[in-house]
Amino acid sequence: MKKDYDLVIVGAGPAGMSAGMYGARSGLETLVLEKGISGGLSNEAPEIENYPGFKNVRGMELVEKMKEQVSEYVEIKELENVERIELKENQAVVFTEKGVYVSKAVVMSMGARHRKSGAKGEDEFLGRGVSYCATCDGFFFKGKSVVVIGGGDSAVREALHLNNIGCDVTVIHRRDKLRAEPYLQNKLEQSSVAILWDSVVKAIAGDKKVEGVVTHNKKTGKDDELPVDGVFISVGEEPNNELATQIGVTVDKNGYIITDKSQRTNIERVYAAGDITGGVRQIVVACAEGAIAALAAYDDLLALT
Ligand code: NAP
Repeated sequence: MKKDYDLVIVGAGPAGMSAGMYGARSGLETLVLEKGISGGLSNEAPEIENYPGFKNVRGMELVEKMKEQVSEYVEIKELENVERIELKENQAVVFTEKGVYVSKAVVMSMGARHRKSGAKGEDEFLGRGVSYCATCDGFFFKGKSVVVIGGGDSAVREALHLNNIGCDVTVIHRRDKLRAEPYLQNKLEQSSVAILWDSVVKAIAGDKKVEGVVTHNKKTGKDDELPVDGVFISVGEEPNNELATQIGVTVDKNGYIITDKSQRTNIERVYAAGDITGGVRQIVVACAEGAIAALAAYDDLLALT
């Protein structure tokens, strides 16, 4: 299979879907490719309260609505992983496991993946008590004790979600101050979630499944054991930048793609949008960046003709 496009978008999170809709509505022959299912990490958000127009919505539900709307304009090919991109004479050739697509412009919206905490046993117990998604796995821990590692928005949201579904939750944070937005911090304070400050999880212990964690207090230097059934790791994200760096797109020291205000990268007609660009990582921002990227592509392609 081989087809020519004006705009190919890699990744169907909120940024990619938005780029797809704006590209197609601008009259560009547009295709969105997604290695998994649409929505990216937004699927995992237990609840979203800051996307305008929705007072409170589950991530999965918001993403489903986006997909339904965007699919009216543009094809989203899910479960089609982009393996590599080659730049050739004003064209990008996009190779997936299922086909080859030639495009005049590319939007990179591959998003981010969960960062690992580095605790001993993290990989060993993955799926056996260790999880990176409370929305996906929290149900299995109803009535049980769990810890959430991290102090950002995601960790606090996950802790609140787990608490709501009936888990006994302790947040373990490496400092004495949370990074999460004040609104979430207040919600956490009002809940029955416990917080273990200045502490990291050194090791996750158990036999066939998680039975406890070894914590290390960075201020006192003391180690402790905490019996738990589940460990939810929420220590931030890393950009999925491999396809970008392979073709020479410039990234910052943390691996996020550098763009200008029109979402242009250092390579002509290659744009980036959403979490892959770092910065304010919010769905509303990802959608806006996707729209800007597609409109910039439209302008640049128009200038070529
Ligand atoms: P984040 O804001 O980067 O926070 C990561 C947290 O994990 C920080 O508290 C950090 O500690 C801690 N941490 C990092 N590495 C660690 C390690 N190895 N061991 C222990 N702790 C570690 O990540 P996030 O919460 O996933 O959020 C990512 C982005 O999405 C942010 O921009 C956030 O605002 C956004 N987001 C927003 C919402 C919302 O509802 N508005 C929800 C989810 C995510 P330090 O604080 O000490 O650095």
